Amino acid sequence: MGSSDASQARNIHQYPQHSQEKLALQAEIEPAVQRAESGSPPEAETIQQLEQALLKTRKRFDSFISAAGHELRTPLTTIKGNAQLALRRLEKLRRKVGQQEQIDASTLGADLERLQQPLDYIVYRVNEQDKMISDLLDVSRVQSGKISIVMRPCNLVQIVQNAVQNTHEMDRIIDLTVPEEESQITIHADPERVEQALNALLSNAMKYSMPDRPVKVMLTIEEREASRMAQVQVQDYGTGIPADELDNIWDISYRVKGIEVQDGSSVGLGLGLFLFRALIERQQGAIGVHSVPGEGSLFWFTLPLAQQES
Ligand code: ADP
Repeated sequence: MGSSDASQARNIHQYPQHSQEKLALQAEIEPAVQRAESGSPPEAETIQQLEQALLKTRKRFDSFISAAGHELRTPLTTIKGNAQLALRRLEKLRRKVGQQEQIDASTLGADLERLQQPLDYIVYRVNEQDKMISDLLDVSRVQSGKISIVMRPCNLVQIVQNAVQNTHEMDRIIDLTVPEEESQITIHADPERVEQALNALLSNAMKYSMPDRPVKVMLTIEEREASRMAQVQVQDYGTGIPADELDNIWDISYRVKGIEVQDGSSVGLGLGLFLFRALIERQQGAIGVHSVPGEGSLFWFTLPLAQQES
């Protein structure tokens, strides 16, 4: 992110306790709650307010279901098309093999390659869909308080390296910065859940910046009020996020209007940041974002070091 223009507005932002949307909803139902608590019967106006709040929630739910249905169906169309293409190519190859006594190895190699392409694409899209369904299930587990998080001492350096290596576009990640001489940073957390949270940030950093833009991942140790925390930062040079949207992006299914996916076919269900926040906060961590529209975003999280490290 360019730091040349000092007059440029900087949005240094940490996750608020309540999003704007939740605060608005709370304000709407507050009078009814107060009357109920004081034992007074609800007023007609209050009932109307409650109805409106419920209607708004219902509308939001309906539009989420419709968007989720659409997003889940989109990969199926390409999966079906590619499966049919692979079958046609297989049939062609079968006929060719049946007609020829001797098969030329180089043409066979090219035919197999043509068969491989749609199959690779199917696997790619199935994985994408699998991820969306897992996210949906995890959101429901978070909401019902049943998400499984098994805390144990684990090495954050290893977790970050795994996440980066498993990224589709690993070549875009430059500067995987780890503190000098720290091949081991022991945190007390669930390594799978930390990797899942980091994956959400990496996937967004790739999605909301052009394919030729790099993504930086930095791992540092922060000293704060006598306690030491491990911090992971993911920096992209993409669309950035307007300041007045920074409170909303953590909400389930919230998407910033006007921010388009810059790389890849997948739009997503708008669950990534909700899950990211829930997973980190349930491991006694903190999260935040610093973003400049048109320049890029820096998302971060901290997690407490395990006892022996602090
Ligand atoms: P999704 O990416 O599936 O829409 P997320 O919960 O991961 O859902 O993100 C919510 C919204 O926040 C996105 O729709 C996008 O508008 C915005 N956003 C998230 N990460 C970034 C980023 N790195 N750069 C720009 N916008 C982002």
